[in-house]
Amino acid sequence: MIIDLNNIKSDPFQNKVFDICICGGGVAGITLAVNLSKQFNVALLEAGGFEYSEESQEVYKGRIIGREYYPLEETRMRFFGGSSNVWAGFCRPLDYYDFEPKKYVEYSGWPINRNDLDPYLEKAKSILDIPDDKEAPKDQFTHLLNKSADFKKIDFWFSKPTNFGEKFGNEITNAENILCCLNANVTDIILSEDLSRVKKIKVQNYAGKSYMLNVKTFILAAGGIENARIMLNCNRQIKEGLGNSTGLVGRFFAEHLHYAVGELILEDRFRNCNEIRTYAAPSERFMQKENILNLGLRIIRCNQNSSQYSFKMKIKNILCEWSPDLVESVFSSKCRYADQLMDRVVRIISEQAPNFSSAVLCDAEVDKFKMRRAALDWTLSPIDVRTIKNGVIHFGKTVASLGLGRLKVVQWLLSEDPKFPGIREDETGGNHHMCTTRMGTSPKNGVVDSNQKVFGIGNFYVAGSSVFSTGGHANPTFTIVQMSLRLADYLNKYN
Ligand SMILES: Cc1cc2nc3c(=O)[nH]c(=O)nc-3n(C[C@H](O)[C@H](O)[C@H](O)COP(=O)(O)OP(=O)(O)OC[C@H]3O[C@@H](n4cnc5c(N)ncnc54)[C@H](O)[C@@H]3O)c2cc1C
Repeated sequence: MIIDLNNIKSDPFQNKVFDICICGGGVAGITLAVNLSKQFNVALLEAGGFEYSEESQEVYKGRIIGREYYPLEETRMRFFGGSSNVWAGFCRPLDYYDFEPKKYVEYSGWPINRNDLDPYLEKAKSILDIPDDKEAPKDQFTHLLNKSADFKKIDFWFSKPTNFGEKFGNEITNAENILCCLNANVTDIILSEDLSRVKKIKVQNYAGKSYMLNVKTFILAAGGIENARIMLNCNRQIKEGLGNSTGLVGRFFAEHLHYAVGELILEDRFRNCNEIRTYAAPSERFMQKENILNLGLRIIRCNQNSSQYSFKMKIKNILCEWSPDLVESVFSSKCRYADQLMDRVVRIISEQAPNFSSAVLCDAEVDKFKMRRAALDWTLSPIDVRTIKNGVIHFGKTVASLGLGRLKVVQWLLSEDPKFPGIREDETGGNHHMCTTRMGTSPKNGVVDSNQKVFGIGNFYVAGSSVFSTGGHANPTFTIVQMSLRLADYLNKYN
């Protein structure tokens, strides 16, 4: 059943105790509600309505106090379905290597590994409407690239992209065991007197009326920035906020760095290669050798007309015949020849190392529910820069040595101390908000344990990419769905 807390006359929660209460009706929250409702009665509390509203979205406003980032109210959606209302549908599971500790990266490694998520791969594909794999057509470019010891071709899958509100709206409306409340803002999480369990959840509608829910188990699934903001704001009983005894809530905020890093001119034999996109990633051996993180390269066809010019002609034109000024400007957007010469644009999506200084904090300014707004201090580490620089330059050397083509690396990346383009010049991030309530082996290195339970609070779980220990380079939603299915399985078995 779905009700709207803005239009309710009597208290819908009176005299009820919910087996499971979920805050957030986005990808994680909806996946959990649907997969827990066979066994439990579930309250699904969603801050927004069925549609976008300024009133709800405004609560997501915050301040950027570190590295430049998208406005916080534009990088996520606060209504039923969450950010799946606008996402692009790129999907890929994390790599086995992503879960392993690396000697050269502090805080690296997860308490679980890829094998723990593999059982949920097919179900996640079905939830995300990912079509069955078709055998990729044999192509010579990939064949040669895979001969390199340092890079390999990788695959992405594409969701429709599935809108979780639209896909599961009817099922939730008809589910006897789910009470989904729209316009229900979770504004406090109240613990038992001994602080060992969550006892009650406070929700408010937009008229400011509050209600209390009695809960047996609570799952916070409000998105990668909001999970931390809510835990830090709920500090009436514990000054530093919930699950924050070691000060890690909100810390380790990670994004995937997104940049155009080069332009590729293909050798003649690949001129008619029709693949619109090819994806490549470094081998584990290469990452270890270079002490760098994971990254993905998206090699995107940008110009079909370029095939009328031969490889030699393009290189010759760039290097010999034109004036130095023309050489300099040949790939700039102003140059009239640029479109005719380049075949592929290469974009990087790269991992960020766990970094305590990169954080979601609470600002002094409050929202309409008197909760302190998010302040994002996004910070990079030297290894993040090295990963992009070494990865791209070495990829250029690889394509040249394999006779695939020549990569013209963007100038800014070649400088001693690269200055990354700002948000008006390039994408810079993927709207992927990760690691702010990271999974760890103890409160010393994490906020939740290997079952996503908050350390020290018996019945409090967190879901979504805030529980990632590290982010890899794959877009996060596929892993969010896998982990939500795993959490549902765990609660169905042990709760
Ligand atoms: C433009 C864009 C493109 C993207 N493209 C991709 C892509 O191609 N591939 C990919 O993998 N990922 C992509 N993402 C990221 C993806 O959308 C998120 O990873 C995913 O939606 C996160 O799921 P979630 O359930 O954790 O959070 P969300 O989907 O954000 O859901 C959180 C829910 O919690 C609710 N909520 C928040 N606060 C409260 C509160 N106090 N009380 C009650 N409810 C609350 C919100 O209203 C929302 O419905 C993209 C994101 C954006 C914005």
